[in-house]
Amino acid sequence: MIPPRESPSFRTGWKSKSIAMRTAHAFLADCNVGRLARWLRVLGYDAAYESRIADPELVARALAEGRVLLTRDADLTQRRVIANGTLPAVLLRSDHVEDQLRQVIQEIGLESPSLEGGGLTRCLECNQELEPRDKAQVAHRLPPYVRATQERFSQCPRCERVYWPGTHWQRMRARLAAL
Ligand SMILES: [Zn+2]
Repeated sequence: MIPPRESPSFRTGWKSKSIAMRTAHAFLADCNVGRLARWLRVLGYDAAYESRIADPELVARALAEGRVLLTRDADLTQRRVIANGTLPAVLLRSDHVEDQLRQVIQEIGLESPSLEGGGLTRCLECNQELEPRDKAQVAHRLPPYVRATQERFSQCPRCERVYWPGTHWQRMRARLAAL
């Protein structure tokens, strides 16, 4: 299941050690694994996604930006820069996004997806880092129930989507905890 477009979340700040670990890996998802990119963003990772890009450009961008390439395309991983280890890549075995996430966590050695005390740090839509906002700054964009019940907000500086903690976010945490 794709995290819903209006996925509420919140930003309370990861512990500094977690920030270092989370920024140590950046990813570039091939067009066939876009949903995986969204879930990596839920975990706070920089996960870029290209819905339409030719293989040479995809490889060039991953190399230039130091990103781990994520793909379902076995032919792509036969390219020399990937086969010889210059460009790290994960060839995903499953079509199911939770299996894919589990495989990436294992192969890259990512921190296990414990979300204790944390919230979303990246926009699920555009991979931009979220910024904390006072309620007064975003009140005009909130549904009445959210405005009445929520106190912590963050916002994407690019698409202006507002995030807050709520039932959607709790469901995502539960799915990640079950991995
Ligand atoms: Zn955004």
